[in-house]
Amino acid sequence: MDLVWSPTDIAFRDEVRTFLDEKLTPELRRSGRLMTSVYSDHGASLEWQRILHERGWAAPAWPLEHGGCDWSLTRHYVFSRESTLAGAPSLSPMGIRMVAHAIVKYGTQNQKDYFLSRILTGEVFFCQGYSEPEAGSDLAALSMAAVDDGDDLVCTGSKIWTTHAREANWMFGLVRTSRAAKKQQGITFVLIDMTSPGIQIRPLVMTSGEEIQNQVFFDEVRVPKTNVIGDVDDGWTVAKYLLEFERGGGASAPALQVMAEEVTAAATAQPGPDGGRLMTVRPSRGSSLTPASAPMCWRFSNTECWLPWRAAATPARRHRCSRSSRPNSVRPSPN
Ligand SMILES: Cc1cc2nc3c(=O)[nH]c(=O)nc-3n(C[C@H](O)[C@H](O)[C@H](O)COP(=O)(O)OP(=O)(O)OC[C@H]3O[C@@H](n4cnc5c(N)ncnc54)[C@H](O)[C@@H]3O)c2cc1C
Repeated sequence: MDLVWSPTDIAFRDEVRTFLDEKLTPELRRSGRLMTSVYSDHGASLEWQRILHERGWAAPAWPLEHGGCDWSLTRHYVFSRESTLAGAPSLSPMGIRMVAHAIVKYGTQNQKDYFLSRILTGEVFFCQGYSEPEAGSDLAALSMAAVDDGDDLVCTGSKIWTTHAREANWMFGLVRTSRAAKKQQGITFVLIDMTSPGIQIRPLVMTSGEEIQNQVFFDEVRVPKTNVIGDVDDGWTVAKYLLEFERGGGASAPALQVMAEEVTAAATAQPGPDGGRLMTVRPSRGSSLTPASAPMCWRFSNTECWLPWRAAATPARRHRCSRSSRPNSVRPSPN
């Protein structure tokens, strides 16, 4: 298989590089580099979103009619890889990469008209209200009550681990509207205005000192039924659809690949035992693939990695990234 970039792919890559060179200030690059998980500094992230929005690149995966880009998978790959290489801050995923897709699929026309354009500009900034103190991995055990009262649902309970709850002006969340036989039934997907009376937020301090996650308390908070996405009691359907974008559908692999390359570069530059290097990496025998033509394949399935300190301790074993241990999502074509 001969995997090479087409001239139009290369032209697009150059266009992205030029844009990033021009628009990424040292402060924005610094924020991207200091990112410890999926979130950049909130202010820098919003500033970068504004710049991307001006260029029409804030939400490339959205449908064209709502402001997305009609990109091929290769272009998504190129954009993500180049952005990471240049040190661009990440955009908050909760609005653009998550709830927007649920609104496009299940929202009313009014909801689409109000939220989508404002998510793009950053005017509406979402947090995610799923987890509860007694409902984490077992999300369907959630119990935050939403009682039907005329035009509103009245919500009482608590959400936890809510990232950016203090910065967000809206929350998308799951609430319990009925206790049916099956716990996945009776859940409703709602959009909650974070300025509503009855909401209190307590930051959770991490061992790093950061206060990104929070616990949010709701005391008889009124949520208009016009803010329900999909049908009352059928929020699990909306949540499952959103999960396709939360845990997939995005182009995380290119950014992770860049980070893996940076770690590899650092480790291979370090002296190891016996005058060698801490880590050595080379394409496996018989491979004609180069990093440029098949980066994912090269990284995970056509590369042998020796970890000398382990090899010295157990001479009979050689640690190798084998085909059988590679992640299922790794494919030779860019994604
Ligand atoms: C950095 C960060 C940001 C987050 N941001 C948000 C957010 O914005 N919004 C939000 O709603 N949530 C958020 N979460 C919560 C997260 O997505 C999970 O829902 C939550 O961390 C899991 O719940 P828990 O902590 O109660 O763990 P538990 O569900 O109690 O699980 C604890 C451990 O037990 C294991 N376990 C659980 N059930 C079983 C089982 N049946 N069999 C075997 N093992 C099991 C789990 O794998 C885990 O190792 C965030 C979490 C983190 C770490």
